[in-house]
Amino acid sequence: MGICSICKKICATDNDHLDCIEKRRIELENLQLKDTITEKLDLGKDPNNMGEEIKALLGHMARKKETKSE
Ligand SMILES: [Zn+2]
Repeated sequence: MGICSICKKICATDNDHLDCIEKRRIELENLQLKDTITEKLDLGKDPNNMGEEIKALLGHMARKKETKSE
């Protein structure tokens, strides 16, 4: 018997619980996803990038409007 290093509970084997390993893996993936999103948001703070993105978005919206009104 050992102790799971993730939930600190007694484990039947010397390894961590498979459930705990899976849970931790998902948590890590979520953290990485958050980091990626934060990085993208940081890029968006650059006024030049932001302007281009908004311009593209507005252009896209304007085109949509035109198509609808016709
Ligand atoms: Zn565990």
